[in-house]
Parts: sequence; C-alpha cells; structure tokens
Amino acid sequence: MIVLEKFYITTAIDYVNAKPHIGHAYEKVIADIIARWQRLKGKKVFYLTGTDENAQKNSQAAKEAGAPIREFVDKNVEFFKELCKILNISNDGFIRTTEDRHIRISQDIFKKVLAKGDIYKGFYEGLYCEGCESYLTEKDLVDGKCPEHQKPPKPLREEAYFFKMSKYKDRVVKLLESPSFVLPKEKRNEMLSRIKSNDLKDLCISRKGLDWGIDVPSDRNHKIYVWFDALINYVSALDYPGGGKFKEFWPADIHLIGKGINWFHSVIWPAMLISAGIKPPKTILVHGYLTVNGQKISKSLGVQIDPVEIVKKYGEDSVRYLFAREIPFGEDGNFSEKALKDRLNNELANDLGNLLSRVVKMIEKSFSGNVPQGKVDGKLGKELNIERIEKYMDKFELHNALAEIWNFIRACNKYINEKEPWTLEGKELENVLYTLADSLRIISILVSPFIPGTSDKINEQLGLNLGTLRGVKFGLLKGGKIKKGGHLFNKVK
Ligand SMILES: [Zn+2]
Repeated sequence: MIVLEKFYITTAIDYVNAKPHIGHAYEKVIADIIARWQRLKGKKVFYLTGTDENAQKNSQAAKEAGAPIREFVDKNVEFFKELCKILNISNDGFIRTTEDRHIRISQDIFKKVLAKGDIYKGFYEGLYCEGCESYLTEKDLVDGKCPEHQKPPKPLREEAYFFKMSKYKDRVVKLLESPSFVLPKEKRNEMLSRIKSNDLKDLCISRKGLDWGIDVPSDRNHKIYVWFDALINYVSALDYPGGGKFKEFWPADIHLIGKGINWFHSVIWPAMLISAGIKPPKTILVHGYLTVNGQKISKSLGVQIDPVEIVKKYGEDSVRYLFAREIPFGEDGNFSEKALKDRLNNELANDLGNLLSRVVKMIEKSFSGNVPQGKVDGKLGKELNIERIEKYMDKFELHNALAEIWNFIRACNKYINEKEPWTLEGKELENVLYTLADSLRIISILVSPFIPGTSDKINEQLGLNLGTLRGVKFGLLKGGKIKKGGHLFNKVK
C-alpha cells in the first residue's frame, strides 16, 4: 500500500460580526493555492477554514442589530461559506467554534492544562481593548490608543484564571529560533525580539460575567477567554485526541495568518500546546495586509470592497490571479480594480486566452479537431523552467512562480508567430501543433492551483483531464479531440 505524505493547512478563523471583506478573500485564496499545489505534488491534503463565533465582538454586533446572538451568528456564517464557494476554495473542513465538539475539546484541553498545574486563579488589572479582545500594555499603545483599533483601551480589574505562559518561555524561544517556524524571516525576528525584550507574562484566560462564550469547566461564572478557545479550533476540527484525522494530520504543516495575530500563533499557541502535551505546528506563515486603492480597509471610513461583488463582476479566477500575482507574499499589498482589469486584459485574456484559442482553431482547421501525434520541438520545451517554479512555490513566492509560468506562456505565443503554422504542412505542421497542444496541457497543470476554473476550461477544450506535477514533462500528450469553447476571459474596459 502506498501511504501518501500528508499536508495540513489552516487559515485563521473569522469573526462573524460582519460580512467578509476583501482581506478574508485574500487569505482563503492564498491558502487554497498552497493546498492545491500540494495536491498536485501528490500529497494528501487537509485544508481547514472556519469561523470564530464565541467572540464578544459577535455578541456586541448582535445586540446592535437587535438579533438573538445564536440566530445572528448562524446567519452570518453563511456569508463566509458563500465566499468560499464563490472563490472556488477547495477546503476539506469548515469549523465553527460553537459546534459541540469544539466546546467539548476546548474544555478538555483547559482541564488538561489545569491538571498539569499550569492554570491558577488570581486577579487581573489592566487595559483591555474590546476590538482586540485582549489586554494591552502601555507599550502597545500609540497616543494612548490601540494602534489596531484607534480606540483607548478600558481599565479593568477582575478575578480571572491565568495560564502559566512564563514557564514556557525558553521552549517557545527555542521554537522561534528554528528558521522555518515562522515565515517570512522578518516576521520571525519581530516575535523573537518581542519575546526576548520582555518577560513573558502569564496569560489571563478567562472573563467574568459574560453571557456568550464557552464556560470554564466546573466554574460557570467564568467564560474561557476567546483566544484560548479560538486557537483550539485547529485541533478540534481534527477531533483531537482520539479522532483518526488528528492522528493523520497533526501537527499542522502551515497555519496561514495575517500579521496582526502573529503573537497569538507563534507564542501563545505553542505554549498552550506544549502544556497540553501536544506537538506544536511546523510553520506559521504570515501574510501582510491589503489596502484598497492605497487606503487601509476600514468599515467606518467606507474603505472596503465586497469580495462577492467583485467576483461577480470579474470572475473568481481574475481575483485569485490578482491576489497571487500583484502582491509579493508576506508584504502588504494593494487591491485596486485598475490593476485587476490590466492583468485580466493583458495577462489572462491576451497571453493565456489567445494562446488557447489560436491553437484550438488551428487544430480544428488543419486536423478536423484531432490533436496530431507529432514530435515535441525541444526548443520550446527549453523555455519552461519547472525547477525554478517549484523553488518559488516552496518558498511561497507565488508572484514569482506565476511570472515564470507566464514567461513560458509568452514563449508559446512567440513560437506561433515565428513558426507561422498557417504556412506549414505535413509532418512539420503536425509537430508544431502537437508541441503547442502539449504545452497547453502542461500549462493547465501549472496554473491549476491559481486559476482552477480556467485550468478546467483549457482541459475541456483539449479533451483532457487535469494531470499532476509528474505530468509536467513534454511529449506525454496522447491524441485528444478538440472541443472548441468560448473565450477563457472576456476583456473589460
Ligand atoms: Zn485593539
């Protein structure tokens, strides 16, 4: 029996206090590209996304909307599921933190950590930011305000449970010192210098007097601090500890997250796991923030884009392509409709769309739609650098991988212009068109993680099924019957 290598990737789970914005779409798409790439490599992939429903933020939003909280989260979670569908996200799981299994497993882990002596009761006094759902220190503030939420935190003193995070400082530092634990490197260095510059304090992990959230086991006056339960989604979705999925997929290969929650994932989460006797994840992969037309996304300032609207207008693959091509991974990036239109018209419609329609037309005209069995022209094959593409993908330089794939697509177009197949006949014509059809087969594989719907359309028109990375070799195409279809992409003004 062949046992496939496993690959477990997660996104952060989203608050359901409002509809998803373009940043949610970005994270899901990037994780999807990585998941699909790993499947192409032949791995058994589990891709998890989901929603963070126990947050106080959700309960506040429900009150403002005048809706019962449970009804409110049930309704809003559907927007996130719809977003996954409309973006052609291939997630294998979707976890909601109000699910019974998540509540049970969060309480089990709380009990485990308590039994180990790593949880104690005390008093917390501090500055609490409701937006972050977290206590902040004076050092975190900019002009007396939370820099993330532009609001001054409230002073709070209350009885609470604490997690002895300080005990795990050395272990966490050691993890952070391994080069692949947090990527990119700059994001790892930020965490390392932060943890080294202050004494890692114990973490307050309960809140008193809330009407929404998961009860502290055996003390119903307290709810488990939402971050403590939220992080547990990554193992509760695998039915920790007994579930077959946990045994098969844990530890996570990648937690993909935004830079604002790096500390929770790179420091708090591993400390919790070590305390509970669970292996830490392999890599925390940190992406930057999106701006919209150069401005920070902000609901109150009206700077936002509804990802569903934008997908309806331009198609999901144009949006997916823009995310991966326009923004170097790890950096902040800008989303603009102008960039989307430019790339859609030039790179998707002109470069890729025209290549397919030219080749399909020529095979129809000269061979009645039957792909000729010719010989590959090695000259064109040399234009594809698969090693370089793989290297970029392994380093999550998705924009460079796409640039490299597009170099090959442009080389194919140039090849047509140089060979002028319409002037050829016989064996020579067969060889040129076979080489082009075989190249399109390979292109369909390479672009499939990025623009899966388009990859399907290419294969449909060539009469093929999608291959795997092992199929990225020239000369493997065996016949096929062309089925001419519409344009891959329609240009927009
Ligand atoms: Zn805040």
